[in-house]
Amino acid sequence: MVSRETPAQQNQVTPGGSLGARGDDWPRPPKTRIFTVANQKGGVGKTTTSVNLAAALSMHGQRVLVVDLDPQGNASTALSIEHRGDVPDMYKVLVEDLPLVEAVKPVPDMPNLYCAPATIDLAGAEIELVSMVAREARLQRALAAYKETELDYVFIDCPPSLGLLTVNALMAATELLVPIQCEYYALEGLGQLLRNVDLVRAHLNPSLDLSTILLTMYDGRTRLASQVAEEVRSHFGGSVLSTLIPRSVRVSEAPSYGQSVVTYDPGSSGAMAYMDAAREMAYRGAAV
Ligand code: ADP
Ligand code: MG
Repeated sequence: MVSRETPAQQNQVTPGGSLGARGDDWPRPPKTRIFTVANQKGGVGKTTTSVNLAAALSMHGQRVLVVDLDPQGNASTALSIEHRGDVPDMYKVLVEDLPLVEAVKPVPDMPNLYCAPATIDLAGAEIELVSMVAREARLQRALAAYKETELDYVFIDCPPSLGLLTVNALMAATELLVPIQCEYYALEGLGQLLRNVDLVRAHLNPSLDLSTILLTMYDGRTRLASQVAEEVRSHFGGSVLSTLIPRSVRVSEAPSYGQSVVTYDPGSSGAMAYMDAAREMAYRGAAV
């Protein structure tokens, strides 16, 4: 039988232990930074990035909420948050006006980290929202009314589409984070995302800042990966984090344990890279 012990348990390292990298506090932002994590391509690392940056920041003194806005509920799964059946979720928040505080749950064993889950009901929201008043502003309103915890970071994990859920996320955000997978076609479709962002800026949220691009699933052995990374850097310059996220088996294993990789195997290359990326973001934001 396969051992269900995580590498961290096998090494007797707890998330709060010496290798857990919990400890020194990073600077807290002057006001809540709300990141929409979007890219209409599926499988580029949106969910992995949302979950791991959120976990990493929470381990360094930041109070962080992950809003799962993908009906698949992968972020909820990765954080061990119940998202089946009739649980209060983002569908009820967006469509039925449930206060966000009633959907938000603390993530087990992760002080400072919270998650508002998505159930499959959210798939219907794309259509149900169409006929609703202020249909693009429902998430923004829900977040504005959330006073329970003074949050430092919110990560909104988007579905792989540019429909009303993603538009709600773009309207609610202060910053946009785009994960880009280092492979051929990586830049295809980005133009469409950026045109949508321009529309949202023009009509709904003028202050939305494309502040952060993260290169994911980087395979240093291939020339293609480094070419894609170079191309992205030449297009987007300073928005691209200098940390690259390597392709790493540990990253893909972690969700089946209901964990982020930064707790599942803190010493792995993927965990250390997400920790570095989170640190970069925290220090960049401190200067704003
Ligand atoms: P998205 O949310 O954009 O659809 P995911 O974050 O779910 O993308 O990632 C897609 C798949 O790739 C998942 O199975 C995930 O575990 C895997 N994955 C993501 N990042 C990495 C990585 N750095 N190394 C290896 N596998 C990864
Ligand atoms: Mg996803």
